[in-house]
Parts: sequence; C-alpha cells; structure tokens
Amino acid sequence: MQSPPKPEYARVSLQGLKSYDPTDTLAALEKLLQPLGGMPAFVKPGQKVLIKPNLLAGKAPDKAVTTHPEIVRAVIKLAQKAGGEVVLGDSPGIGSPENVARKSGIMAVVEETGSRFVPFETSVSIRSTSGTFQQFEVAQEILAADVIINLPKLKTHQMMGLTCGVKNMFGAVVGLRKPRLHLQAGTDKAFFALMLLELCEILAPALTIVDAVIGMEGEGPGSGDPVQIGALLAGSHPQAVDTVATELVGLLPHQIWTQQQAIDTKRPYTHLQQLELCGDPLEFLKINNFRPAKMTDVNFGLKGGLKHYLRNALTARPAPDHKLCKRCNDCVTHCPAEAMKIVHNKLLIDYNSCIRCFCCQELCPHGALETKQGILLRLHNVLQRKTRPDTR
Ligand code: SF4
Ligand code: SF4
Repeated sequence: MQSPPKPEYARVSLQGLKSYDPTDTLAALEKLLQPLGGMPAFVKPGQKVLIKPNLLAGKAPDKAVTTHPEIVRAVIKLAQKAGGEVVLGDSPGIGSPENVARKSGIMAVVEETGSRFVPFETSVSIRSTSGTFQQFEVAQEILAADVIINLPKLKTHQMMGLTCGVKNMFGAVVGLRKPRLHLQAGTDKAFFALMLLELCEILAPALTIVDAVIGMEGEGPGSGDPVQIGALLAGSHPQAVDTVATELVGLLPHQIWTQQQAIDTKRPYTHLQQLELCGDPLEFLKINNFRPAKMTDVNFGLKGGLKHYLRNALTARPAPDHKLCKRCNDCVTHCPAEAMKIVHNKLLIDYNSCIRCFCCQELCPHGALETKQGILLRLHNVLQRKTRPDTR
C-alpha cells in the first residue's frame, strides 16, 4: 500500500483494461483502487453506499451510452466485500429509471449481486453557503447515502465537450428539473458549467471511478460512436479525475466547459502538476485521434446586438434528419425552451427560441438530430486547422 498523498496533491489512479471480461474487470478494479487504499478506504462496514452510474438512456452496453454493467458489477462486489449496504440509482434523461436500467444491462447486475435499485424520484432542497448557487434541488435518495460512488462513462458531450466525473453528478437532479436548469443558464455555457461544478462539490462523491474501457467520441453523449480507450481511472476528487481524463483522450481544457470554468475560477486539481498519478503510466494509456464533439460556438470577440444578429452563423444548432425522425415527440416534451413542435408530421425547431443546449440530441432515441454548424463557425474551424494542425 502506498503512503498517503501529500496534502496539496490529489491522487488519481489509472489502470489499463482491454475488455469487459468479468474476471479481468474485477482484477483491474482491485489494482486500480489499491494505490487509493482499496475500497475499505472509502466504505466502512454497515455504511449505506449509493452507486451513481451514467444511466442516460436505455441502450445496450455496446452502444457506450451507459456505464458498462461489468464495471458496475465489480464496483458493487468490492463495496459489498468492504461491508457496505449497496444501492444504485440515477435519474435518466428519458424513460423510466427501471426501464433504462433494465435495457442497459445494469438492472440484471443489481439483482444478481443482491443490491437494490433506487430510482431518483423525490426532490429535496439543499442549501449552499458558498458559491454562486445558493440552493439545489436533488434526489432525496442520493442524500440518504453515507457514501456516494460516482461511476461515469467517459463520453463526448455536445454542449459541455465532455461528460466524466463532474458532469455525471448532474443525474442527481430529478427528471424535468434538469431542463429547468438548462433554461436558467440559457445560452451561457460557462454559467451552466459553474452550476455543474458547484453541484458536484456540494454532493461530494467519496470516490469517482471512470469507465473508459470503451468510451464515446463524436456526437455524444447519446448519439456518438463507441471508441476503444482501454482504461479505468479513479480518485477521490472528481475534478482531478476529469483533468486526467482530458489528457487521456488528448482534449484541451478549452474544449471542455467544466474544465475551463474550473481553471477560470481557480479551483484545485485542474493541472497535472497538482496531481499524483499512480498505477499504469498515463503516457502508455493515452489515445490519439479521439474525435471531439463538434464545436458549437465561437464569437470572434463580438458583443451585444451584432453577436445576437449573427447568432445562427456563429453557433451550431440541432437539425432534424427527417428520414430518421420517428416523430415520437420525446424531444418536443423535453425541450427546455419549448422551441420544438411537430407540424404536419414534421419536426420543426424555432431557432430564435432555441438555447443550443442540445438536450434534444442527447435524448433522441433514434439519433435523428444532427449538429449543424453556422457558416462563421465552420470558417473558424477551417482557419484553426490551417494555423494549428497539431492541437488534437
Ligand atoms: S428528433 Fe428524435 S426525439 Fe425528436 S421527434 Fe424525432 S425521433 Fe423523436
Ligand atoms: S431545440 Fe434542442 S437545443 Fe434547442 S433548446 Fe430545445 S432541446 Fe435545447
């Protein structure tokens, strides 16, 4: 067992894992947690342990939309072995939590391990004495736990750039309260990112374990492409874990709104120099050519009226693929800005009302919403590729 990390550092552990073979996964998880003191450093006998996976939507494990069930199984087993009473819960973006857990293969694991599924259904208010957001409404079920284990899947995110340790805790906000927070932030992504950081800080998961064996690139978090990364990450500070995840897939902090906001607000553990890395070396696990989510805005320093006037040219927007759209109405009912409607059997979006949150794309079960970049944004991308060919 390693000595405790120096106080000013956060320790993040990495472990290579090529597949979700159950035996290999359990062994890799044990090795991953060993430099952090093993699961007993986080879970004491008799404690109520809440595992919070990514349960975005009811998709099969090979789609890489949800945390893989074999990772969930291994974490449950180790938490039970440490003496914890384990429950697992989330509030999916769409669909009933039980159905999503069943379709993603996670409910079967919960039943096989003798743990319990707790859908996030009841909201309670928690107050913050510091920060910008004085109050959050979160699931009562998550607050009932002695220990929260945060279990994200590493995926691109069309709005925030990446979903990992920090963003995964947004699932603690129940159901339709999520779109309300999107509406509150409007088009201000930095403000939304700050809310995510403060929410994660107030919930303070004891342990974050990232499923980056197969991640998602491109149009994540719901419609991107699975990509082999081959790694597990763990640490007691979600921000520290995200800093390593950013490096692992070769993204830059400015491509991830939570990461950039954490840097701008001088939060700790946003640079590798503030971290103590353990386990397999990061340089051996790093992957090349990870495809980021499409950039969704640029403003060339424009302000006020001109920026508003050129909004469609400066931003990306969701665009329906009418051949794929099944007119199921799911996006319409979840759009925070009420900018969508189906007219004469065709999905229409009012781009003047649309706040570019990309919730519709995240939730569409048929991958029927593309990201369409405005002309000035496309031009910016071309110029950037020409002047900085090695940024990826
Ligand atoms: S875009 Fe997707 S979610 Fe929206 S109506 Fe069409 S199929 Fe349904
Ligand atoms: S149309 Fe889509 S991106 Fe625009 S506000 Fe509605 S959910 Fe958000």
